[in-house]
Amino acid sequence: MQEFIKNRARQEIFKLKPYTPGKPIEEVKRELGLEDIIKLASNENPLGPAPRAIEAISNMLSELHLYPDANCFNLKKALSGFYDIPITDILIGNGSDELLKLIAETFLSSGDQIIVGKPTFSEYEFAALIMGAECIEVPLKDFTHDLPAMLAAITPKTKIIVICNPNNPTGTIVNRTQIKEFMDKVPDDILVIFDEAYYEYVENPDYNTGLEYLAQGRNIIVLRTFSKIYGLAALRVGYGLTSTEIAQAVERVMEPFNVNTPAQIGALAALQDKEHVQKSRELNSQGKQYLYNEFKRLGLTYVPTEANFIFMDTGADCREVFNRLLKLGVIVRTGDIFGYPTFIRVTVGTEEENQRFIASLEKVLKDLK
Ligand SMILES: *Cc1c(COP(=O)(O)O)cnc(C)c1O
Repeated sequence: MQEFIKNRARQEIFKLKPYTPGKPIEEVKRELGLEDIIKLASNENPLGPAPRAIEAISNMLSELHLYPDANCFNLKKALSGFYDIPITDILIGNGSDELLKLIAETFLSSGDQIIVGKPTFSEYEFAALIMGAECIEVPLKDFTHDLPAMLAAITPKTKIIVICNPNNPTGTIVNRTQIKEFMDKVPDDILVIFDEAYYEYVENPDYNTGLEYLAQGRNIIVLRTFSKIYGLAALRVGYGLTSTEIAQAVERVMEPFNVNTPAQIGALAALQDKEHVQKSRELNSQGKQYLYNEFKRLGLTYVPTEANFIFMDTGADCREVFNRLLKLGVIVRTGDIFGYPTFIRVTVGTEEENQRFIASLEKVLKDLK
């Protein structure tokens, strides 16, 4: 069996690193016998799903025996109106994760290269490696994508550059001017992906979405998701905004029923739930401010964020901090997987969750001294 896999599986799969997900609440309950647990590890919306989505999904359950609309027509139509772009320029995926994989399947062959930041979201590398492509990682500067260095990393093999904006795990953005300078120089035969999963949380007026470069006819894909501010991570719906030509190419490699019906219906309802989005944004903004103030009080440094999570330096071994927080029922993400062994990434929670996180962190760091 061992020999069989070694000789017969595609060699590319042995380069893949398994994804490290946020530890699930149920697992912590099982392993530590704890009941009252808060998860601030996966940037989920602490207010839960958009209420309109819950209602819409409840009303469709008797239709679960029918295959989904393979074309996601209603959801595409709503997004088309929302962004004022043609319906043919929209891709819907089983999460934006799936779209990243489909984009890789559409564009990448063995020996090609993609360029990403370091650290950034791990799915870009994953998608590239599956196709046998190489992932060139360009270190961030001041926790922010270094776009000139990414341009300098271009080779004749470069097919895709990914800009995660705001970046996960650092929460930083590249601003309007930086994007313009980059887009002015990047050759048009390179596909630029703007992953804007946290777009709705951004408060900085210097932020600019990649969308305006679509209108200029550039070869780009803007990725967004219903997993974050809309609170629908379990449904798995993400979307891409791009040109008709790119959308049609990516749809060639797509499974016919990649997005299930509750997901299509829930996403459509969530898109219209402006109140939930607004509330979530406000809660996040207040939570950020509270956490910043508490970090300052505790003498801890953090990276100011434009998203719903904060990358912060505990000044101690992050695995140790993680395990001790876990025992107090607080799940966060360690920075070592991103190359920062004293950092953690914490999702901004409800007021109560944030207070509990701070009290727990304060206790853990005092115990560690
Ligand atoms: C959470 C996240 C996504 C969204 O993934 P889905 O598959 O849509 O749930 C995409 N990109 C980044 C950077 C993320 O953090």
